[in-house]
Amino acid sequence: VSIAAESTGLPLAEARRRRMRELMELLYPWCRSLTGPGVRDTLDAIATEVPLEVVATPSGTDVFDWVVPNEWTPRGARLTDASGNVLADLADHTLHLVSYSVPFEGRLTRDELAPHVHTLPEHPTWIPYRTSYYNADWGFCLPHERWEAAGDGPFDVVVDTRLEPGHLVHGELVIPGRSEEEVLVSAHVCHPSLVNDNLTGIVVAVELARALAAAPRRYTYRFVFAPGTIGSLVWLSHHRDGWHRVRHGLVLTGLGGGGPLVYKRTRRGDRPVDAAAWHVVRRRGGTVRDYSPWGYDERQYNALGFDLSVGRLTRTPHGEYPEYHTSADNLGFVTDDELAEAFDALVEVLDVLEGDAVYANMSPFGEPQLGKRGLYPSVGGKAAGDAVMAMLWSMALSDGDTGLLAIAERADLPFAAVRHAADQLAAAGLLRELDTTLGAGSDG
Ligand code: ZN
Repeated sequence: VSIAAESTGLPLAEARRRRMRELMELLYPWCRSLTGPGVRDTLDAIATEVPLEVVATPSGTDVFDWVVPNEWTPRGARLTDASGNVLADLADHTLHLVSYSVPFEGRLTRDELAPHVHTLPEHPTWIPYRTSYYNADWGFCLPHERWEAAGDGPFDVVVDTRLEPGHLVHGELVIPGRSEEEVLVSAHVCHPSLVNDNLTGIVVAVELARALAAAPRRYTYRFVFAPGTIGSLVWLSHHRDGWHRVRHGLVLTGLGGGGPLVYKRTRRGDRPVDAAAWHVVRRRGGTVRDYSPWGYDERQYNALGFDLSVGRLTRTPHGEYPEYHTSADNLGFVTDDELAEAFDALVEVLDVLEGDAVYANMSPFGEPQLGKRGLYPSVGGKAAGDAVMAMLWSMALSDGDTGLLAIAERADLPFAAVRHAADQLAAAGLLRELDTTLGAGSDG
């Protein structure tokens, strides 16, 4: 049973939408960063949904060209004016404190404080998101209008954080399939109260893991929930003997927030996942972009030393919508419909990767009689018309070299229709599957 078919059952789809929304609401207030209690709690929450393994790597560990940083524990942070008015409090919003702020306490003039204050003049009511991972500093982020109205000070600053040797944690989940070849699904878990970037990627990945666990498939699926950049590199460093098993992969992020689906190709640009996503995303009105070494963890997986075929699925990409990395990327910015469509598109891409195959036409002398084999639909309509066309195209192009995805593209039909036609024709003895290794893996 394909998960695409399974996902169209209304009660199940409704339950999925509700679970994704509830998990986003649970995770939203937590203060995630590269390390620290926010990431630990997030992974623990995911582990209550699916059997996630949490891996801890000590600070100071060399990871390729990087070093695992000290663990950051924010305990409280508050900026007040001389009258005691609160300008920013970590307890009110995690974006108020610059991530990885070092401890500080003192009374400062406005001029002294200003270099530590971040605002968005063009969106005066929003709080920006700022980090200072690799530069020992502290800072507050607040609405520009609040900072403008804050007077001349002095201001009292309390940044109660700890930055000391600990661990970086990431989560892994493996769902074995019939083949040892793997599909990698990766989502970053290092952003605090931001929903599109990347609670959307997290909750869609969790739902995919749940669906696959209920119905294992040909490939083995490996999920990585890791802090951006350093976290994916930690995972790669732990799996030096496993890179070669990753045949396809997708980074999931920014799956809400309006806009059409956008697929970013692998560095090579000609991998099976590129062709599969091209087919699915364009048929859903989305767009496909070429690779760039800027973005999320796809830039680590695609690095020359690893050379993994990992693309990226988003809607409007990072930096191209005004709410990006601000407090406006909140629970109201992402709709359940957007997440549900992203989930369905993701499953369709996987269905292509799982189901693409090459067949040989066993009745090549003219068009076979579909009616006498019970293959001609008894009712009309577009679906029936598509079904007939999918059978005719499959017979016309199954030359022992052309795969089903290529047939679907040439026929301008959904892959699922061609896949279904091939199953019917094979059952009737009109097509024979050849032992090839397209996107479909090597065990079929
Ligand atoms: Zn981001």
